[in-house]
Amino acid sequence: VRSSPTPELGDLARIVGPSNVLTDADVRAGYETDWTRRFRGCASAVVRPTTTEQTAAVVAWCSERGLAVVPQGGNTGLVAGGVPCGLSEGAVVLSLQRLQRLDAVDPLAAQVTAGAGVPLAVLQAHAGATGLDFGVDLAARDTATVGGMVATNAGGVRVLRHGAMRAQVVGVEAVFADGSVVSRLQGLVKDNTGYDLTGLLVGSEGTLGIVTAARLRLVPRLPDRLVVLVAIGSVEEALGVTARLRSSVDGLDAVEAVFGDGLSLVQRQLGLPSPFTASVDEAAVVLLVEWAGRGEPPAALLDVLDPYPSAAATEPAARAALWAYREGMADAIARVGIPHKLDVTLAPGRLAEFIRSVPDTIESVAPGAKAHLFGHLGDGNIHVNVTGAPVDDDSLDDAVLRLVAELGGSISAEHGIGRAKARWLHLTRSPEEIRAFRAIKTALDPNGILNPGVLFA
Ligand SMILES: Cc1cc2nc3c(=O)[nH]c(=O)nc-3n(C[C@H](O)[C@H](O)[C@H](O)COP(=O)(O)OP(=O)(O)OC[C@H]3O[C@@H](n4cnc5c(N)ncnc54)[C@H](O)[C@@H]3O)c2cc1C
Repeated sequence: VRSSPTPELGDLARIVGPSNVLTDADVRAGYETDWTRRFRGCASAVVRPTTTEQTAAVVAWCSERGLAVVPQGGNTGLVAGGVPCGLSEGAVVLSLQRLQRLDAVDPLAAQVTAGAGVPLAVLQAHAGATGLDFGVDLAARDTATVGGMVATNAGGVRVLRHGAMRAQVVGVEAVFADGSVVSRLQGLVKDNTGYDLTGLLVGSEGTLGIVTAARLRLVPRLPDRLVVLVAIGSVEEALGVTARLRSSVDGLDAVEAVFGDGLSLVQRQLGLPSPFTASVDEAAVVLLVEWAGRGEPPAALLDVLDPYPSAAATEPAARAALWAYREGMADAIARVGIPHKLDVTLAPGRLAEFIRSVPDTIESVAPGAKAHLFGHLGDGNIHVNVTGAPVDDDSLDDAVLRLVAELGGSISAEHGIGRAKARWLHLTRSPEEIRAFRAIKTALDPNGILNPGVLFA
């Protein structure tokens, strides 16, 4: 595969229009740097198709020339999968943001077909207008796209209730590496006719095909919501509360956590007041719990949370104000420095041990670096962000991911492997599994033009 093409850009301009082939370095820059600013590369051009046909023609053109293609949606990914760096340096960045198809909601099926470039917030508003809702939500909602979310099998704050992206995707339309198009947008919930190509493309991080549209399942829009923020004295107690909530409360939408001094970091960086009227221990675990349903929240929810200092809200603006303490973490950390981001998951029984030992693990390889822990505690997913360590030194990433593997966890809960984690894939995937991955990749992309360096180092 070639990645420094000196491409005959006029051909691409004829496919997508001259204004959609970006070669100017200043214009390209935003597509070449990831959200964290840790990963940067260089594209030969950024190409922005508007239709599936244009996407297929661009991919076929690159395929004929053996040119590497890096698909990109909203560029909010956190594992350097959508930026042309490493083995993809000099590739064509294929920006799918202009694929803005958004069909009317199908009320009989409670489904909708959305183009790859539709931002999550637009999809949510579209579903909301018909009394339905989309089952995945995450803080990057204004920018993350349907295509990127399908490609990463995005998780987010409602996995507890609705599952990750995979559970919402009924079918996809996609372009394979040779430019051929496959489409499963009929919305058939049951369809046992051979291999599940849709399932294969979900979470494939742009290595097997370019998602151009998805048929998505919608869920009922629940009118009543309660958000409670509570401060709990210890990690073990917070885990116990989470377990009790899960086993006794119907209608839990989210159980999120901010550990250590994360709450004060968010307050400081984003200029927010303390959410609690009572004084709270700096080291407390702050849990954000959201319930959604019809009518009053169950008594069990209030029983479990009653012993702790809390702040609660039911109205949208007040709920959003409480969510800001959790959703503001990524932004607050980015203001402190360029972070190393690790997104790991452990079985509930190993979480406390991990949370306790990870700061020491980091200190042993990156003295003086600061660990910030937060995440989706309801499904065992902890985001370990580290500031104050050299950007290009990944010894701390190595140490943390090895600790996760030793404790039987996964080195990526929801962000994917991308380029950033590819060298550690073997820690939690066996040689047999990786051989099967490679066989699938070779079958669908024999020349390896789609996202080189992602998944396979
Ligand atoms: C503040 C913040 C909060 C976040 N919270 C969460 C969270 O709670 N849960 C979570 O899972 N993630 C989260 N993320 C990560 C990110 O938002 C998700 O990974 C999201 O799915 C990426 O979508 P995107 O459109 O930005 O994709 P991009 O970043 O553009 O791309 C991501 C990957 O998908 C590939 N890709 C993109 N579009 C396509 C396509 N159409 N076809 C094929 N491949 C494609 C890219 O090559 C890349 O490998 C967060 C990010 C930020 C910045």
